[in-house]
Amino acid sequence: MKRFFNVVLFIGIILGLSACSQASQDLVFSIDGQENVVTKQTFQEIEKQVNVDEEKDYDLSLEYLFYKYGVKAVDEINIVQGDTTTTFPWSEVADAAYWRNVREVEINGKEYLADKILISCSELEMPVAYSVTDIAPISAAALGIPFGNEPLPDLPYSSAGHVVWFFLDGFGYEGFQYAKQAGLIPNLSTIGQFYPSYTVYPSKTSVVTAALLSGLDSQQNGVWASGIRNLTVPSIIETLVDAGKKVTVIEGSSTPFNYPDAEIILSGDRNGDGSTDDNVAANAQEFIAMGIPDLLMIHFHGVDDVGHTYGPYTPEWRAKVAEVDAMVAELIMKLPENTLIFIFPDHGMHAINEDSELGNHGNLLLEDMATYIILFQK
Ligand SMILES: [Zn+2]
Ligand SMILES: [Zn+2]
Repeated sequence: MKRFFNVVLFIGIILGLSACSQASQDLVFSIDGQENVVTKQTFQEIEKQVNVDEEKDYDLSLEYLFYKYGVKAVDEINIVQGDTTTTFPWSEVADAAYWRNVREVEINGKEYLADKILISCSELEMPVAYSVTDIAPISAAALGIPFGNEPLPDLPYSSAGHVVWFFLDGFGYEGFQYAKQAGLIPNLSTIGQFYPSYTVYPSKTSVVTAALLSGLDSQQNGVWASGIRNLTVPSIIETLVDAGKKVTVIEGSSTPFNYPDAEIILSGDRNGDGSTDDNVAANAQEFIAMGIPDLLMIHFHGVDDVGHTYGPYTPEWRAKVAEVDAMVAELIMKLPENTLIFIFPDHGMHAINEDSELGNHGNLLLEDMATYIILFQK
């Protein structure tokens, strides 16, 4: 009997030890008080999804962990190691926070072996039900072409002869609200229905464009890192073209993503005034006058360019926003009846203080991630 108890005790100790070491390998990750346990397997899955391009080895931002668990924007995080808790306001460290392994985190060059990461989210004051991924399925449905396998997003539309996308690069929700209050966008702030939305992470032009065209989140469409330029899932462009429709994309000086099947017009800065927007608008006018295609995407890049150079909300940024507002309004006036119009940004922008730049985006910050969809049926 004694021997039996010894064996039970021994097994108990082994189980206890392995339970301890098992628990210590995992990371406890708490989102606004809701706890999750992050295992090695989760880490490996995320890393594999981000590093799809075998020639590149991306540093895994810690934000990938947050986004995987549904976080749209971060206010601050706390790293708990034993009795020590270190607090990081996210706007100060977002760009310098890496996920090295399950519990191994590097922030500002310093390594932490975290027992727990506690994060506080930031979010818009109203509930947000929409995403940049909703634009393609509604556009295709309005043109009578099935696209994707998901149920249609809950946005009102009726069938249309043409769909026009005004893609306002870098002019996110926060910038829009600022400009609205400052009276800079009399047209954009009064036209159509305004739906607050979130973009996808990382909030970079190429990644968001992939989500826009595929109607799928960055975690699902194979483009979860910037630097990838091709979709491996169907895009609305190829779907429409296969169905006999015509798609034209009017760009600035380059394309942020590959659009096979679309007719691409590179506008450039022909008059050398430092901006491609006036050239984009002139090309768009020409295409509208010639008889517009089924889907026309007009990509204005100036707000983003000026935001990077001078910073958001600066006089240069404000002037550019007002200019784009007028250009969009003029184009909308020239559009034929029976056109469904979407106006949306790919992401917003936050101020930074670097030698080369005063604004940037790509992080899990509200200024970068909060966007909108304006829907207008002409
Ligand atoms: Zn962009
Ligand atoms: Zn940019």
